Amino acid sequence: MKKENNQELMEKIVSLCKRRGFVFPGSEIYGGLANSFDYGPLGVELKNNIKNLWWKRFVHKRDDLIGIDAALIMNPKVWQASGHLETFSDPLAECKKCHHRFRADKIDGKKCPDCGGELTASKQFNLMLKTFLGPVEDAENTVYFRPETAQAMFVDFKNVLDTTRKKIPFGIAQIGKAFRNEITPGNFIFRTREFEQMEIEYFIKEEEWGEVFEMWQEEMWFWMTDVLGLNKKNIHELNVPEKELAHYSKKTIDFEYEFPFGKDELYGLAYRTDFDLKNHYKEPPYEDAETGEKFYPNVIEPTFGVDRSVLAVLCDAYTEEKDRVVLKLKPSLAPYKVAIFPLLKNKPELVAKAREVYNMLRKEFNVAFDDRGNIGKRYYSQDEIGTPFCCTIDFDTLENDTVTLRDRDTTKQERIKILEISTCIKKQL
Ligand code: ATP
Repeated sequence: MKKENNQELMEKIVSLCKRRGFVFPGSEIYGGLANSFDYGPLGVELKNNIKNLWWKRFVHKRDDLIGIDAALIMNPKVWQASGHLETFSDPLAECKKCHHRFRADKIDGKKCPDCGGELTASKQFNLMLKTFLGPVEDAENTVYFRPETAQAMFVDFKNVLDTTRKKIPFGIAQIGKAFRNEITPGNFIFRTREFEQMEIEYFIKEEEWGEVFEMWQEEMWFWMTDVLGLNKKNIHELNVPEKELAHYSKKTIDFEYEFPFGKDELYGLAYRTDFDLKNHYKEPPYEDAETGEKFYPNVIEPTFGVDRSVLAVLCDAYTEEKDRVVLKLKPSLAPYKVAIFPLLKNKPELVAKAREVYNMLRKEFNVAFDDRGNIGKRYYSQDEIGTPFCCTIDFDTLENDTVTLRDRDTTKQERIKILEISTCIKKQL
């Protein structure tokens, strides 16, 4: 099935997500809430796999990165200093007839996309989500949910430096929720008002920025293609034109993915100069250990949306074959690594043996157990959620401790020893 601008494909993915427990509409029994979504039992596994792989690759495996986990609500002075209170806005236009509101930079032409009515001139709308801390709802107690995780890395820069004794070049990473009062959320989990980011602020000397920018560009490609397994053909780099750059950026590349609803931003890579550290620290926060020179490091920021990662992975993996739907997820991303089936539900000895294998493998992996219906239906059910292996316990198992292991993509089965199952799975991870 062609993947460009394909509404039908998108509907199938959304429906699979709901039916199988990847993503549910948020607050559904109360009629939902303006494009909010909940991750279900399989969705949370997929999402956690993505976040864990990211943390492992960028924080645990590298000497030059460390992590933090900061508060969602920060002192409002942070947002004053960062420029967000003043400039973190999108142009909003309203239809004079149906009063629907739109992001003026996202619509073609000057007419309302919903009813064709005349639009008002656009005005800037600040995307910061406001609330009050404490019982008094006044200006003094007004605070904002962070619109990006990035600022905590700047605000905590000195603390991290003092506690880790890192020398530049080094980076601080964080995974966490961010909130934006988007004018028009939409396209399923692509644009929501509450979402999750995985961000890195990488601190360098100014003269190194070009080289380090390229290093992160390569790292991001590796992450998208080799770790997430996205098809290279579906990813495009966009050099953001100067006039569209965010207020802090001197150069930005957007990595765009060909979603079924069109090509749109998946991730970003920005050169933030020394803009943020200069705004937050009166004195240069970094001192070169050898020369004693004090200065403001420059920053390269690779930023990854978690929810957009989930969506891209699902769109890329969704495959319709002659008689089945398969989510061809990388095994490392799949919610379950293997599903265990007793051949027959009404043979207690088969069920008991299957339970034994299940309990053994659960020590290492997230494992599914299914004894309903016929084996063909169970295969179909696991294919649709991307489980890379299905393992059937039959009468031969009781004799010689062997099982059939069926591969999701080739549908081929091989007979192996119970003790070999774990190695077979690990080879794919
Ligand atoms: P857009 O142009 O789509 O509004 P942006 O350029 O404002 O996005 P950034 O500020 O660069 O986005 O945010 C970093 C990353 O966070 C994005 O690349 C994206 O993956 C994710 N992201 C941003 N806004 C949202 C949102 N409303 N819902 C889900 N993910 C988002």
